[in-house]
Amino acid sequence: MIFPVEKLISAASAARERAYAPYSNFSVGAAILTREGRYYTGCNVENSSFGLTCCAERVALFKAVSNGERNFEAIAITAGTDDHCAPCGACRQALAEFGAEIKVFMVNRLGDYRMQTVSELLPSVFGKNALTAGSIEISDKKSIDSLIEPVNR
Ligand SMILES: [Zn+2]
Repeated sequence: MIFPVEKLISAASAARERAYAPYSNFSVGAAILTREGRYYTGCNVENSSFGLTCCAERVALFKAVSNGERNFEAIAITAGTDDHCAPCGACRQALAEFGAEIKVFMVNRLGDYRMQTVSELLPSVFGKNALTAGSIEISDKKSIDSLIEPVNR
């Protein structure tokens, strides 16, 4: 699929204008592209309870997922900074859930970008396989009963 990265960057920049960042004054915009060529934008949304703040990347990702999207090609991130804006660790993990090969375009204030894949940004990711690797396999009901502590003795 051919999709101009400049268009994705432009969408991310437009989303950045809607950032709600009264505490940090650090406005971020993101635009995530599906493999089918649809894109969804996000901006950071801060909260007076700082821990509730959500990054632009995750806002864009969650908007897309809540619209039924599961397959992503790329995401563009911009904060209008001199440096190329990289996603935080939480956003890297959230993106990894949907694909290690998603291209991450980290954009600076001039619109120049650096691109790395999610797997390059987050090697040795904690993924779906990690959840099943250490789980207990229970083959029959008797085994389950032996794991449950009786309540009424
Ligand atoms: Zn983040």
